[in-house]
Amino acid sequence: GWIALLVVAVTCVLGWLLSDALRRRLRLAKLKNDLVTTVSHELKTPLASIRLLVDTLLHDEHEPKSETATVQRREYLQLISLENARLTRMIDNFLTFSRIERGKPGVEFQRVDMRDVVDQAATIFREHTGDVDDSLHIDRAQSAMVSGDSDSLVTAVVNLLENAWKYSDAPRQITVTTDVSDERVTVAVRDNGIGMNARAISQAFDRFFQVDQHVSRTRGGCGLGLSIVRAIMLSHGGEVQVVSEPDVGSTFTLSLPKPVEVLP
Ligand code: ADP
Repeated sequence: GWIALLVVAVTCVLGWLLSDALRRRLRLAKLKNDLVTTVSHELKTPLASIRLLVDTLLHDEHEPKSETATVQRREYLQLISLENARLTRMIDNFLTFSRIERGKPGVEFQRVDMRDVVDQAATIFREHTGDVDDSLHIDRAQSAMVSGDSDSLVTAVVNLLENAWKYSDAPRQITVTTDVSDERVTVAVRDNGIGMNARAISQAFDRFFQVDQHVSRTRGGCGLGLSIVRAIMLSHGGEVQVVSEPDVGSTFTLSLPKPVEVLP
C-alpha cells in the first residue's frame, strides 16, 4: 500500500525536477540560438559598410590627389573609425550579456564615483555617435559614490545614452542628471525622442524586445541593451525605471544604493 504510494510520489517529484531541468536547458538553447542569429545579423551591417568604404579607398588610391579627394578620403576614414567603434561596443555588450547570463559577473566591487562613470560614458557616446550638434548635456552633482564595477556601470549609462540618441531625431536634447539622496544615488537620462506607450514600457526590459522591429533595425539595435542595463542594476542591488510619453520623450533612471560609510 503506502510503499507503492511512496514510489509514485518519488517518481512524480523526480519527473517534475527533470522536466524543470529540461525546460531550463531548452530555454537556454533557445536563448543561445536567438543570440547567435541576432549577433550575426547585427555585425553584418557595420562590417558591410567598412568593406565598402575600404574598397572605395583602395580603388581611388591611384587617382590624382586633388583637394576634394583628400577631404573625401578623410571622411571615409572617419566613417570607418565610427563603424569600428560601433562594432567594438556591440561586442562588448554581447560579452557583458553572456557573462551576466552565465551568472558570473567575475568582478569585485569597488568605490566608484558615478560622475566619473557618466564622464566616461559621455566620451564613448560622443566617439560612437559623432554628436556634432553637442546634444548631450551633463548636470554636475556633488560626489556620487557607489559600490560597484566601474566598467559595467559605464556600459549601463552608455546603453541609455545610445538609446536616447537612436530614438530621437535632431535637434536632440539629451540630459544626464546625477542626484544623491540620503540612501540612493540616481542617474537619469532624459531625451526628447519618440517616447514609448504603456505596453512598450512594460516589455522594454525584456530580452530581444523591440517596440517596432523596423524602427529599431533602421536605427540599429537588437533588443538587448535595456535587458543588459537591468541585469547590471540588479547585480548592484539597484534598479532601472522609465517614465515616457509617446512623441514627448523618455527618462530612464538608474538607482543605486549608497555604500555604507565606514567610520574612521
Ligand atoms: P534596441 O537594441 O532595440 O535599442 P533595447 O533593449 O535597448 O533594444 O530597447 C528595447 C526597445 O525599447 C527598443 O527597441 C525601443 O523600441 C525602446 N526604447 C529604448 N529606449 C528608448 C528611448 N530612449 N526612447 C524610445 N524608445 C526606447
